[in-house]
Amino acid sequence: MEETVARDVVNGPAAHADMAGVGAADSAGALEKQVTEALSRLDLEARVRLLTGASFWRTWPSPEAGLRTMVLSDGPAGVRGERCDEREPSANLPCPSALAATWDEPLLGAVGRLLAAQARAKGVDVVLGPTVNLHRSPLGGRHFECLSEDPLLTARVGGALVRGIQAGGVAATVKHYVANESETDRFTVDVRVDERALREVYLAPFETLVREAGAWAVMAAYNSVAGATMTENALLRGPLKDEWGFDGLVVSDWIATRSTVPAALAGLDLVMPGPWGPWGPALVGAVRDGSVPAEVVEDKARRLLRLAARVGALTDPAGPGPADDTGADDTGAKDAGARDAGADPAGPHARDLLRRAAAGGMVLLRNEDGLLPLPGAGTPGGIRRIAVVGPNATLPRGQGGGSATVFPPHLVGPADGLRAALGDGVEVVTATGVRAEPWPAPLSTANARDPESGEPGVRVRFFDADGNVLLGERRLSGRLMFMDDPVLARSARVEVTALLTARASGRHPLGFAGMGRFSLRAHPASAGATGTGTGTDVSVAAGVETVLYDDTLEPPDGDIVAAFLRPPVWWGGVDLTAGTEVLVTLRHDPPAGMPVASFALLGEEPSPTGPRELETAVELAASADVAVVVVGTSDRVESEGVDRGGLDLPAEQDELVRRVAAVNPRTVVVVNAGAPVLLPWRELVPAVLLSWFPGQEFGAALADVLLGRAEPGGRLPTTWPARAEDCPVWSVTPVDGALDYTEGIHVGYRGWSRRATAAAADGPAAPVGSGLAASPPAPAYPFGHGLGYTTWAYESLDAPAVLAPDEPLRVQVTVRNSGDRPGRTVVQAYLSRGDSAVERPALWLVGFATADVAPGQRATVSVEIAPRAFQHWRPALGGDGGGAGGWSTEPGTFTLLVGPSSARLALRRDVVVAS
Ligand code: BGC
Repeated sequence: MEETVARDVVNGPAAHADMAGVGAADSAGALEKQVTEALSRLDLEARVRLLTGASFWRTWPSPEAGLRTMVLSDGPAGVRGERCDEREPSANLPCPSALAATWDEPLLGAVGRLLAAQARAKGVDVVLGPTVNLHRSPLGGRHFECLSEDPLLTARVGGALVRGIQAGGVAATVKHYVANESETDRFTVDVRVDERALREVYLAPFETLVREAGAWAVMAAYNSVAGATMTENALLRGPLKDEWGFDGLVVSDWIATRSTVPAALAGLDLVMPGPWGPWGPALVGAVRDGSVPAEVVEDKARRLLRLAARVGALTDPAGPGPADDTGADDTGAKDAGARDAGADPAGPHARDLLRRAAAGGMVLLRNEDGLLPLPGAGTPGGIRRIAVVGPNATLPRGQGGGSATVFPPHLVGPADGLRAALGDGVEVVTATGVRAEPWPAPLSTANARDPESGEPGVRVRFFDADGNVLLGERRLSGRLMFMDDPVLARSARVEVTALLTARASGRHPLGFAGMGRFSLRAHPASAGATGTGTGTDVSVAAGVETVLYDDTLEPPDGDIVAAFLRPPVWWGGVDLTAGTEVLVTLRHDPPAGMPVASFALLGEEPSPTGPRELETAVELAASADVAVVVVGTSDRVESEGVDRGGLDLPAEQDELVRRVAAVNPRTVVVVNAGAPVLLPWRELVPAVLLSWFPGQEFGAALADVLLGRAEPGGRLPTTWPARAEDCPVWSVTPVDGALDYTEGIHVGYRGWSRRATAAAADGPAAPVGSGLAASPPAPAYPFGHGLGYTTWAYESLDAPAVLAPDEPLRVQVTVRNSGDRPGRTVVQAYLSRGDSAVERPALWLVGFATADVAPGQRATVSVEIAPRAFQHWRPALGGDGGGAGGWSTEPGTFTLLVGPSSARLALRRDVVVAS
C-alpha cells in the first residue's frame, strides 16, 4: 500500500508568544526587539556568564542588559522556592500520577495557575516541571512524579499544566528530555530505544508540549541515549530545536553538564546549578580558539533573554533597571503574588482547588454491593463509629520523595478529614497496626520544645570554626534541608537541640537521618532513663550527657543527589519513665564551605510494636461500623535517585488488610501510593479506593469521596498489575551500562494487550493442568479503569466512515447515566489496526473527553482525534534517530474503539483512511 508522508500537524512554535507574562512585551515582535536590544549590550564574556547559574537556583543578572536575576524552582509537587523551610510553606499538590488520573484538563489548567501564583509569591520565575517521562516499568522510582504510561494522556494533561503555569507569566520546564524513565545509574545509563519508540512514545509528549502548549523551557536529562549524554545529545538540536522550532531555553538537569565544547555545540543553553561548571571562562576560550562559533553562544544568550522577557525579568535596558542583584523584591513580583488567588498555600482558593483535585484523581478500583459512598450519621444504616487504621492512617503521605518535595502548610490526615466531615455524632478511632518504616518520624511541634524559648519546635544553631554562633533560630520541624545556604557554607558545625518530655514510660525511639559526621546525645534532666543505640545498651543517667552516636554515616551508594534527598537513617532508643525531661542534641559537622545539607532529628513516644500493634488495629476495626484501612508507601520507598525493588506494600500491611477484612465486612482499603503496588487481597475486601499521594488536603478530599460529597473522579493513567511477574516491562537495571527498551512501542497497556491479542490469535487457551501455555495474565486493573458512583450506558458512536490522511477525525459519543446519582464518565477513544504492513500496538489511546451527567440523562460528547493518531514514524534508513525519517499514514481501515476504560470498549466503528 502507498504511504502518504504527513504535513506538519501541529501549531508552530510562536503560537504562545502572546502569552508572555507579567512585565513582558505584549507581542512576539516587540519581545524579539527587546531581546535583540538587550543582547547587543553584551560582549562575549557577558553572554557566556549568563549561561551558567549564579547559584543553586538563580541565574546571573546583567544590569547593562536590563536583566534581573531569575529564580528556578521545583516543580511537580508544588513550588518550593529558594528555601526549603517549613516557615515558608508551599501548596502541596496531588502527585502527578494523581493529577493525570483526573483526565481533567480544565482542572489541571487551574492547578497550573495555582503553581504560577505560588511561584510569583515566592519570587520564582521558572517552575521545573512538569515531568513528562513515562511510566515504563512500575519499578521506576519517580513514577509518582510522572503522569502516565500513555504518551497522549501525558501530553494532554501535561499541556494543561504548562498552559496554566505560563498563563500566569511563569515559565514551565518540561523534563527530563528524554528517556529518563528510571533512576538506577541515572547519571551514566545509556538508554537504547529504537527510533520509532523514541518518536511515537518518549518524544511525543515533549513534542506536544513544545509545539502546541508552547513550553518556554526544557530540561536535559542525566542519562544518555544512543551513547551520548543528554546534555550533549544530538536530540537537543533535532527534533527539539530544528524540527519542532523550540525557541525557549534548554537547561541542564542539576550537575548534568559534563563538558564545555560538546555540550555547547549540542544545544544546551544553561548550565545549572552555578556558579561553577564546565562553561564560564572555558567556553569563552572555546569561542576564541574557534571550537565553538560565536553565533552558538549568541543563540544561547538570546534564548535566555527571551525567557527573561517572557517572565518579566527583562526591563528596558535604557530604563532604571533592577533595584538590586537579588531579584527577591525588584520586580514587584512578590506584591503581584500577594494579590493572586492561590498565593497563600493555606488560603481558601488553594485549599478548595487542591481538595477538588485530590478527589478528582482518586480512583475507585472496586466497590462491591455499593459499600461506598458511606451513609452518614443519622441516615438509615448510618455509621456511628468508624475505625481508620494502617500505617498511612497515622502517618499519611501527601507526596513522594526527592527534589519534588515541598513543605506544605498542613497535611489533613484521613481521620481528621473524616472527623471534620462527620461531626460529633460519629466516633472516629485510629491505630497504626503496622509500622511501614521502623525508625521514628522527625520531631515536630507536637512533641518537641525549643530549649531556649520553651516554645514548640527545635533550636538550630550554626557555629563557625572558633565556636561562635553565626545564627540561632527556632524551627518547627526536625527535618532540615539547606540548599545554597550562605550561613551553612560558613559553618563548621550545625547543632539541633530539642526538649522532650516523656508522656509515658518505655522505650522512646530517637535517631537521625543524614550523611556525614554526626553525634546524637541525650541529657536527661531527671532520673529513670537508660538508652540503647545500634543494639548496645548505654546507660543514660540523670544530669549526665550520654552519647548515643558519634561517627560518620556513609551514603549507601554512589548517587550523591539521591543520598541528599533520601539520607541514611540511624536510630536507637532511650528508656524513660513518664514525666522525665530529656535534652536531645544532634550535631553535624558539614564539609568546609558546603552550602547544602539535608538531615533530620527523629524521635517518638513509645508505641506498641509488632503483633500487639496489629492486634490493637484489628480490635478497633472489629468494634466499628466501618473499617477504613489506609495502606501505602512513603517518600523513601517512592523517591528520586532510586528505583523500587518490588511492588509489595512494605511490612505486614497485606496481613493487616486480611485480618481487618476478616473481622469487618464493611472494610474499605485506601491505597496511599504514587505508583502501582500489589493488592493480593483485593478480592477479599468490598471496596478499594486509590488515593495516590493526594497532597495537603488528603483527609478532606478522602472524606468527600468516602461520604459521596464528591465523585471519585479518577481513571487509571497506568495499568495496575496483579503480580509483579506479569508486567510486560519490568527491569530497570542496566546491563553493561545500557538499558534496552526492548519492548519498543509496546509500553504499558499496549504491552498487556499485545500479549492478549497474540494469545487470541493462537487459538483458545489451553486447559488448566494440560501443561500447555495458559491464557496470558490480565492486570489487576486496566488502564483507564475507575468506577465512580453511578453506572453508564455507552449508547452510540458517530464517526465519518472515510477520512483524508491529514484530516482530524471528529467523533460524537452518546452516553447515558443509567444510575441514580449524578456522575462523570471519561469517554476514551482508541484505535487499532488489524491488517497492517506496519508493526503496531494492539490498541492505542487517541482521544478522550469527560461527561458530567445527571441521573437518567444523556449527553453527547465530541472527541477530536488528530491526524497524528493515524500516523507512525517511518525510521530513517539505519534507524539511528537521525532526521531523515518521517511521519507516515498507512491508508486503509482502522478500527475506532470507544468506552469507559481500555478493557471495556463496546462501541466500535471502522474508519477508512483514504490514500
Ligand atoms: C532532578 C530534577 C530537579 C533538579 C533540581 C534533579 O536532581 O532530577 O528534576 O529539577 O534536581 O532540584
